[in-house]
Amino acid sequence: MGNIRGYENDSLIIGRFQPLHKGHMEVIRKVSRESDHVTIGIGSAQYSHTKENPFTAGERYSMIAETLKAEGIKNCYIVPVEDLNRYSIWVSQVVSMCPKFTRVYSNNPYTRRLFAEAGFEVRDSPLYNRSEYSGTEVRRRIKSGENWSTLVPEAVAEIIDEIDGVERIKQLGGEQENGI
Ligand code: ATP
Ligand code: MG
Repeated sequence: MGNIRGYENDSLIIGRFQPLHKGHMEVIRKVSRESDHVTIGIGSAQYSHTKENPFTAGERYSMIAETLKAEGIKNCYIVPVEDLNRYSIWVSQVVSMCPKFTRVYSNNPYTRRLFAEAGFEVRDSPLYNRSEYSGTEVRRRIKSGENWSTLVPEAVAEIIDEIDGVERIKQLGGEQENGI
């Protein structure tokens, strides 16, 4: 059985993208230049409508897909990956859901260790303007009515408007997690 294609220069980036922001896009642009193909894994895919994870995997998929389209980036796959809450099998879960890759870009210590132990090449993923470009900061600003749209790509701001995401986050912010 031959290879369908070479994949030795194919990479994985994984995040929750709640929502996709300009820091994520800096990394995606850089990795897409350095790789033949990039898989963008949408982590914690099964969660939505909570404070930490307000958007569904489908909404996050659209945010990423529309932004890639707007920027003309064509070598990325987008794959939602559910959390299993068991570190020991998480790598196999990711691998089973994604096209083949050999390299992982992450600065999360657990992600780095788990993929390194499984034999993947792990590379640093520098943080850009982290005080502003963070999902937590975007959600905080949305909730408190501050200007958040400059922190995210235009297509993301449009999708959040379309799905009434501001009201969703404000409502979630005012209540206990409901555990649904
Ligand atoms: P949250 O605050 O909701 O955890 P986050 O900004 O940390 O959001 P995640 O969705 O958790 O983003 O995705 C984490 C991935 O995104 C990591 O690999 C991390 O390196 C990358 N990342 C997050 N913020 C930045 C940034 N400002 N610059 C570069 N990469 C970033
Ligand atoms: Mg994070």
